[in-house]
Amino acid sequence: MINRIELPKEIIIASHNPGKVREINILLNDIGIKAYPISLFSDIEPIENGSSFAENALIKARNAKQLSNKTSLADDSGLCVDALDGAPGIYSARWAGLEKDFGRAMSLIEEKLHGIDNKKAYFICALAIVNEKNEEYVFEGKINGALTFPQKGKMGFGYDPIFIPENHAVTFGEMAPNEKDLISHRSIAFKKLKGNIIVKK
Ligand code: IMP
Repeated sequence: MINRIELPKEIIIASHNPGKVREINILLNDIGIKAYPISLFSDIEPIENGSSFAENALIKARNAKQLSNKTSLADDSGLCVDALDGAPGIYSARWAGLEKDFGRAMSLIEEKLHGIDNKKAYFICALAIVNEKNEEYVFEGKINGALTFPQKGKMGFGYDPIFIPENHAVTFGEMAPNEKDLISHRSIAFKKLKGNIIVKK
């Protein structure tokens, strides 16, 4: 029998982004876990200097655990383009600049892929948990697909308007949120997490 990871009913999310905290609460709702933002404890954000999504998620989860002394969950995600050697990858947010201009980041990718046939790409989401005993766990979700230009669709966020998931005909930006949630890298990672935890009574 698999040893499941015990999680308390209340955990901390290592994010200052209210949208992400809301989205994660929706994903955890069915297992009765309520997640509170780390901003309740501190505004200090760690430097994400890991070399992978998993390392950066762990850096954020460790920092939140240290600041709150409570079980903490962090996610780190991004888009990796095959022909760009995996870029923007862990720098997915930074490619949009301080203004978070993803229109510009998508145009930059389009420019770099000019004349290149290989448009394969994938999204990754790494979820890291650090519990009260400082035990660490990571779960990853990945979805393969291909990029398309120009951008299509106004739903979702980030790079959604240029990403068509494998075996689909439209971009994430054209999908309703619940349709994207069925297949996304984030939902795959959360399914793995949920399959490995047990919520404390
Ligand atoms: P993080 O919040 O540091 O993990 O940054 C992840 C970045 O990757 C986001 O700002 C988005 O630009 C991009 N990203 C991650 N997941 C998605 C997605 O589901 N759709 C579109 N862009 C995403």
